[in-house]
Amino acid sequence: MDHQQLNVLPLGSWGLGLERPLLIAGPCSAESREQALGTAAGIVAHVPGVRVFRAGVWKPRTRPGTFAGAGEKALDWLREVRERYGLLTLTEVATPEHVQAALRAGIDMLWIGARTVPNPFSVQAIADALVGHDVPVFVKNPINPDLQLWIGALERLHGAGLRRLAAVHRGFSWSGATPYRNHPMWEFPIRLKAAFPDLDLVSDPSHVAGAPDRLKEVAQQALDLNFSGLMVETHHDPGQALSDAEQQIAPGALSDLLEGLVFRSAAPSGALRNTLSDLRDQIDRLDADIAQKLGARMEIAERIGLYKREHNVAILQPERWERIMAAQRALGEELGLDRAFVEAFMNTVHQESIRHQTAVWEAVSGSPARGTERLENVSRTPLSSGSSARNFHSDQT
Ligand code: PEP
Ligand code: MN
Repeated sequence: MDHQQLNVLPLGSWGLGLERPLLIAGPCSAESREQALGTAAGIVAHVPGVRVFRAGVWKPRTRPGTFAGAGEKALDWLREVRERYGLLTLTEVATPEHVQAALRAGIDMLWIGARTVPNPFSVQAIADALVGHDVPVFVKNPINPDLQLWIGALERLHGAGLRRLAAVHRGFSWSGATPYRNHPMWEFPIRLKAAFPDLDLVSDPSHVAGAPDRLKEVAQQALDLNFSGLMVETHHDPGQALSDAEQQIAPGALSDLLEGLVFRSAAPSGALRNTLSDLRDQIDRLDADIAQKLGARMEIAERIGLYKREHNVAILQPERWERIMAAQRALGEELGLDRAFVEAFMNTVHQESIRHQTAVWEAVSGSPARGTERLENVSRTPLSSGSSARNFHSDQT
């Protein structure tokens, strides 16, 4: 689908004195006046580079019965943070009522959360409530990996006349094994930036990592990808936090984290448009991801090989291979990939899988696996269309 051009202002032109790297810190939730002011005081003392204080006032909790935010009265605490410490304030809105209350309280900037972005009705209602209010809005990625929903939310806000927009990457829900709370799936922010080069991307490593020990890795990856800033959940006493206690860090730890990161300098033009070298970095990162994924795939192929041998299961699974190819062709078409390229790529991957299976069989038995020669011969045969797939032996069961 073609995207309308988003005519967004880079954060350096928001009129708020912001620049790259934009550093945003603050607790997951504003819990009390003391907690908000105490955390802000710690942030200012330890990390003077932080310009924006974030805190949730209305919290989207997965299960009822947990702390759902202090509500409207917390907006006064944020105002006090700004007055005392000179930090800009940022909070989450999920309904038109939240928008109205936040604007009434003079909150400087808003964000739309990962659970709200997937719902076009909610986003449209927020956008409608923002018509005529020129407030900066950060749009988090939807909780599910759907680029169109992320873009759609930005387009709805843009349609409401907002130009001071930025995107926040906070990772995606993931049912498979992952060391992250939310899988980063870096290809999504990369594709968003490729579609809208002027749009600032901010990383929220806290919600990706879910724990302090992976914050640095995630934040550095974001900086290497030329993200414009970081939003890190910071609490003056993380262990006592009423939400996301396991991932928040104290202001002193925030300072250590930032000191350990390598910040890239902004593009020479000062604009946020990707330079050729930024784009090349992104390509390199994607190539590394592809290699990692292929490595993981081969490991699984080896395990399947051993399993089949152990259970005396036939190696030839033509229907399975047909299904894989059909799915890849369909996906390739959707992504604008040439059909012949998809088939050639998948055949090469398949051939490498068979080589891995054969190698583990040999390692186990000390002699060449039965039928290896035949396997290798057919796997070199190019697959022109679905019909010849039947000649293939598959590792995919
Ligand atoms: C948050 O930032 O505290 C939050 C609720 O984030 P998300 O919408 O990304 O889960
Ligand atoms: Mn949180």
